[in-house]
Amino acid sequence: AQTQTARVIEQTERYGAQNYKPLPIVIHKAERIWVEDPEGNRYMDMLSAYSALNQGHRHPRIIEALKEQADLVTLTSRAFHSDKLGPFYEKLSHLTKKDKILPMNTGAEAVETAVKAVRRWAYDVKKVPDNQAEIIVSEGNFHGRTVAAISMSSHAEYQRGFGPLTPGFKVVPYGDLEALKAAITPNTAAFITEPIQGEAGIIIPEEGFLKAAYDLCKQNNVLFVADEIQTGFGRTGKLFASNWENVTPDVYILGKALGGGVFPVSAVAADHEILDVFEPGSHGSTFGGNPLAAAVAIASMDVVVEEKLADRSLELGNYFMNQLRTIRNPHIVDLRGRGLFIGLELDGPARPYCEKLMAEGLLCKETHDNVIRFAPPLIIEKHELDDAVGRIRKVLEA
Ligand code: PLP
Repeated sequence: AQTQTARVIEQTERYGAQNYKPLPIVIHKAERIWVEDPEGNRYMDMLSAYSALNQGHRHPRIIEALKEQADLVTLTSRAFHSDKLGPFYEKLSHLTKKDKILPMNTGAEAVETAVKAVRRWAYDVKKVPDNQAEIIVSEGNFHGRTVAAISMSSHAEYQRGFGPLTPGFKVVPYGDLEALKAAITPNTAAFITEPIQGEAGIIIPEEGFLKAAYDLCKQNNVLFVADEIQTGFGRTGKLFASNWENVTPDVYILGKALGGGVFPVSAVAADHEILDVFEPGSHGSTFGGNPLAAAVAIASMDVVVEEKLADRSLELGNYFMNQLRTIRNPHIVDLRGRGLFIGLELDGPARPYCEKLMAEGLLCKETHDNVIRFAPPLIIEKHELDDAVGRIRKVLEA
């Protein structure tokens, strides 16, 4: 007889658009770092939904906040106030050290919001001539899948057949200060970059780049915008990856773990002279900042802070990295990372390894063909990391 897993996969493929290529596992339930399929097989989650699950699956405190809020009010729209929105803003404002917050739902929407904010800032504050604002972005970036976000991309496969693309973006090699300098003109509104590139394969810029890029932006009245959707909330061993170089970006773009893996919550955080460019009617979202999202985000941030997830990530990330370094496989060409955000680069496709790791009960996903990303929930225990290393060693040394 057909297993439930096989039935579910068949149905999903039969009725769903094929814009993803998931590993052949069906997740039926989950807790902390563990997920279970309908047949009762358990797997360790080493992807954390692309770092949306930093707090682990179904963190009790976040689930409690969700349930409590569900019994009060779930949606007001922004036509009315909700008593959860202010507390959400205040907490995120304190964490980011930014005056103001603009809430959205998905990461890509927050990216769109940042693009609109910096463009309008360029016209209204910097006095760039109408429709001339330029935004500099990094080669290899990933900012999402909307038309503006793919227009920022340097990957032809993200753009093919989706044109005409949005103009106004200039791509420079990632981590290249001279190229950034050369790309800046009087019409440059912002430099938007990931402080560590996640989807590109955990690419860390040379030390000092972020600070130097930030300083260069300041000298030229250009906004420095950090897309910390994947790197934020402790993932890299600091609250935000920009903190590695003591940079406080002009604009943070946040998402993923802001919703604790429970609810889509994203936001842009910036000082008032930037977010004040929006007047009523100029931007919005029906669900942005809804009461469920706000309640979940408050609890998600509390967990990150109170459980010291950034410190855990740093300490356990170093430990994990040292263990991974002892694994012998001639196809490993690089092992890099910060905190529990680790990329293992191979000289060939990573997918077969991910499939074998799945068979060993460990879930991860290849990124850009030849990199395996290890990014477990930050609440993982040391003994569980030892368990993970055992499974990884078994597959990679086979
Ligand atoms: N920006 C970065 C750096 C990301 O890693 C992602 C998602 O992977 C996004 C933007 C897009 O977020 P979403 O998938 O929630 O739209």
